This record gives sequence, C-alpha cells and structure tokens, in this order.
Amino acid sequence: MIYVYSQTQIFCPVDEDLNIQMVDLKSQYYHIKNEVDAAIQHVINSTQFINGEEVKKFQEELAGYLGVKHVITCGNGTDALQIAMMGLGLKPGDEVITPSYTYIATTEVIGLLGLKPVFVDCDPDTFNISPKSIEKSITVKTKAIVPVHLFGQSCNMVEIMDIASKHDLYVVEDNAQAIGCTYHGFKDPLKTGTIGNVGCTSFFPSKNLGCYGDGGALMTNDDELASQLRMIANHGQSKKYYHDRVGCNSRLDNLQAAILRIKLKELDTYIHNRQQAASLYDHHFKNEHRLKIPTRYAESDHVFHQYTLQLDNSVSRDNLINYLKANGIPAMVYYPVPSHRQKMFSTIEFSKGDLTNTEWLTSRVISLPMHTELSENQQLHIINHIKNYLNK
Ligand SMILES: *Cc1c(COP(=O)(O)O)cnc(C)c1O
Repeated sequence: MIYVYSQTQIFCPVDEDLNIQMVDLKSQYYHIKNEVDAAIQHVINSTQFINGEEVKKFQEELAGYLGVKHVITCGNGTDALQIAMMGLGLKPGDEVITPSYTYIATTEVIGLLGLKPVFVDCDPDTFNISPKSIEKSITVKTKAIVPVHLFGQSCNMVEIMDIASKHDLYVVEDNAQAIGCTYHGFKDPLKTGTIGNVGCTSFFPSKNLGCYGDGGALMTNDDELASQLRMIANHGQSKKYYHDRVGCNSRLDNLQAAILRIKLKELDTYIHNRQQAASLYDHHFKNEHRLKIPTRYAESDHVFHQYTLQLDNSVSRDNLINYLKANGIPAMVYYPVPSHRQKMFSTIEFSKGDLTNTEWLTSRVISLPMHTELSENQQLHIINHIKNYLNK
C-alpha cells in the first residue's frame, strides 16, 4: 500500500482512535480476553499458584518455539541475568564485557554480583555492542560477554561467538527486547537467546512477550548448566530441603504462565504487526534528511521492541518531544543516560572517548509509539506531526 503525504493535508481521523500510547496493552488484551479470563479462572480454581502445570507447559512450549533444549522460568528478567552469571560460576573481580548503551538491569546485575562491568561502545547504526570494541577490552580477567539484542535486533553473534571461543569466554545473551527474533548469520537460522551459553529474557508487560505482572526466563542447550540454573532459582535446592549452593528465590507464578501460554501463540502475529508498523514509519521517514530511520542489519530479523530514530544535530530533541506531547503523541528516550554515566558506577573507570557512539546516541535518539495494536490512522497522525515539525 502507498501512503501519500502532503504537507497541507493533515490526516484527521475520529478522536477516540487518537488515544495514542507508547504501548497499548488494553486493546491487545481485548483480542484475547475470553481465553485469558478463562485461563486465569482455571488457575484460581486449581489453587495451584506456584510451580503448577501451566509453568511446566509454558517452559516446554517456549523451548519448542525457540528451538532450545531448556527453558527455566524465573521471577523477572533481571533475576534471569543474575542467575545466569551465578550459574556460570563468575566470581567477584571477574571482568564482564557489556554495552554501556542498554537498560540498566544488564549492567546492574554485574555490579550486584561484585563482578567488574567493562563498558564497551556500540555500533552507531544497529545500536548493538560492537565486536571490535569487545576485542580491544579483553584482559586476562575477562570471563564473559553480555551482548544485548537492543530494541529487537540481534547483535553480530557470528563475530561475538568467534571472539568468545578464541578467548575462552562465556556468552550471556540479554534477549529481553528481542524474543522471537531470528538470527541468520550461522548456517542454520537460530533464535536470539539460544546462541550463547545462556540466554535471558523478561516477560515485563511491555516486552514483546509480556505477562500481566513480572516474569522472566533463562534458555540454554547445556544440560548441566540448566540443572544449576534451576537449582539457583530455587534456593540452591537439589531435592526438597537439601540445599547444595547459595541461590535465590525467583519463580514465575502459574497465573502468569497461563497468560504467557496464550500470548506465545500470538507472538509471531505480534511480531508481524510490529514489523508492519515499522515499515510504515520507514516509508514515510526514509527521505527526511534530519533524521535517520533504524538500520536493518542484514543478518537479523528485527522484532521492533522499539522503533528508534536518530535526530541530527539541527533538531532539538526536547522541543520535538514537547511538540509531539502537545499533540497527544507520546515519545520516549531509550536511554538518556548510558550505564557508564550512572552514579551507581561512578567508581568504575572508563577511558573517555571509548564510548563516543554511545554518548552520541543517548543524546540523539527518540523512540516512537510501537506496539501490536497501532492503527494506520494513529501512525499517520504521528508521521504528519513529525514531518510538520521538521519542515516548518
Ligand atoms: C526489561 C529488560 C531487562 C530486565 O527485565 P525485568 O523483567 O524488568 O527485570 C533486562 N535487560 C533489558 C535489555 C531489558 O530491556
């Protein structure tokens, strides 16, 4: 379909359709309401709230969808990262290479476990960790790399896995934003989160596969690691009341698993809807010289957790955001402050200049509404206002 844009003709659909949100979970719920309500009632009737049948089935179904041997559910995505790093036996002082440009959970967990985050720069086009910067940051203390598939697109996993095997490092994928994304760099297509030693994901409501509360999961093809991860998530327990190691208490509840089983069946449709919305934005923005549309990395699908533009220096991001807000259009900055600039890491040294792409992006990115329920009318309203602002 071709969408014609004209500066003089602002598309003006009915008002109620213009309740534009960054993420619209309500409309999404209405499409699956009957099934979800019945599933919730079923769990309540069973009064099996923790570790029930739904959790077991969801783990199997997600493993099947991803093509991975083990899925271990847990309390949230941050816990998943923590459990992964504990399961790999990382010790205080070990260095872990991570992008600075990510959601704070990735790097916070490294600090929490007493490991040393080594912040590296990202690729300015894909926003993802740059393999070249990884190699430059490896020391004798480096034990692991944590690639984050930011905004829904895979990192360059061929190069990352290559570096990891050359230097004998673990790879923990932070897949919280890219569940369902397929990476095509290897001989066979693989889902992100199943490529490194262990993958982590989050079912936070606004994630691409979100539940109605907190939830998370780990993925691995390694049998021994899987049993360690299961044990850690459950108080280090090997059999009831026998605790082999210090772990934590992190679990997905049965209600969330029941909801996730329903939403997993929709995941490919949800991804398709996001990709359609992204194509429409791309089509209208690709010739706007004051901004840059998200680069599609040839070896990866893009599941568009976020649709993120880069503004050039001539555009005031704050003014644009205010203009959009005044017109009922939400927009967000993911993320305004990179990890290496956070107070929590003020004692971590990083050499200035090493993170130039990260610094640039955090000052220039803007993310537009992106979800499974965006209508063309809503998108055209957003597009027209951005074009008006840029060309006035
Ligand atoms: C959301 C997110 C997490 C954390 O997940 P929670 O379930 O909120 O703990 C970790 N990493 C990234 C990149 C995320 O986007």
